[in-house]
Amino acid sequence: MLQDRIGRPITALRVSVLDRCNLRCTYCMPADIFDKNYTYLKHADILTFDEIKSVVKCAMNLGVRKIRLTGGEPLLRPNLYQLVANLKSLGIEEIAITTNGLLLEEQAEALYQAGLNRVTVSLDTLDDTLFKKISGTAMSIQKVLEGLRAAQQIGFKGIKINAVIQKNINEQEILPLVHFARTQGLWLRFIEFMDVGQTNQWSKDQVVYGKQIQKMIHEIWPLRSVPQPTNHVAREWIYEDGLGKVGFINSVSEAFCGGCDRGRLTADGFFYTCLFSANGLDLKSSLRNFCDLNVLTDLMATQWSQRDDRYSELRAEMNHQPRIEMSRIGG
Ligand code: SAM
Ligand code: SF4
Ligand code: SF4
Repeated sequence: MLQDRIGRPITALRVSVLDRCNLRCTYCMPADIFDKNYTYLKHADILTFDEIKSVVKCAMNLGVRKIRLTGGEPLLRPNLYQLVANLKSLGIEEIAITTNGLLLEEQAEALYQAGLNRVTVSLDTLDDTLFKKISGTAMSIQKVLEGLRAAQQIGFKGIKINAVIQKNINEQEILPLVHFARTQGLWLRFIEFMDVGQTNQWSKDQVVYGKQIQKMIHEIWPLRSVPQPTNHVAREWIYEDGLGKVGFINSVSEAFCGGCDRGRLTADGFFYTCLFSANGLDLKSSLRNFCDLNVLTDLMATQWSQRDDRYSELRAEMNHQPRIEMSRIGG
């Protein structure tokens, strides 16, 4: 089995299908940087569905069993359901998507029919005014809520919500989000605000730590810990009253690099081995130079086997180095 320098296999691949987004979340694509002058990928530089399929085939040769589609906003990519169907035909065990949910209502049925297994919707507040402020949009949060409802009605099970909480911005939204998730049968996960990229003005002082959030929830809805699989990024807790579970992705305060088994593919075909890398392996050039898929598999295997990424564990020493933007690598 392929392993990196510290013994980690590759079992999952996050595939970014587009670097554009219909939102401008302050912590990801701040509007003053990602404005009309920002240079996005050119259409010709974005991998076609066939090219993505080839990379996924190679990744499967290395041990990948799960794919997560992301972006930018993945639902902005036309006919995304066709990619889902294509990847399903390869025998991938699980295909998931992370989306801001704005276009989910329209696409949920086609994605479900194509074989999409799981949906995660990012939602940091239930307050429409705050939603507009955090995500730099005039669109209403109702669109996201309708998308979630549509996904549930169509039959998706175990829908997750990702929430990023920032100090003095949306801490007051923690308990309403918990209440919402518990009563709607959704699995809420809190992601610590991270220093991905170099444009979101990250500072440690703005991070609300998972432990604090957990304590706050526990006081109202007591939580019990459950055994954690070693490679799971989210630490799971169940509510003692039996009404679901909640997860904490404590990537700043409790780094989980030891179990990190995910590769990442950008929309323009670069293979990254860490969310905080500066450079990836250019698979698009190889693909477009008619590289044999066995050769491509070997290139990816070499990249993975040479990996010793541990950014979150070494943050203090490493956070002066350049890092790829979240909207390109997809989280
Ligand atoms: N646009 C889609 C969405 O928002 O779900 C997919 C891409 S987005 C980059 C993937 C995830 O990364 C989202 O759940 C988002 O909240 C999270 N994210 C973005 N920037 C982040 C940051 N600086 N720290 C923590 N999570 C972040
Ligand atoms: Fe867009 Fe997702 Fe980034 Fe928000 S977090 S700006 S929705 S890519
Ligand atoms: Fe994996 Fe890099 Fe995140 Fe560590 S910092 S968990 S190596 S992506």
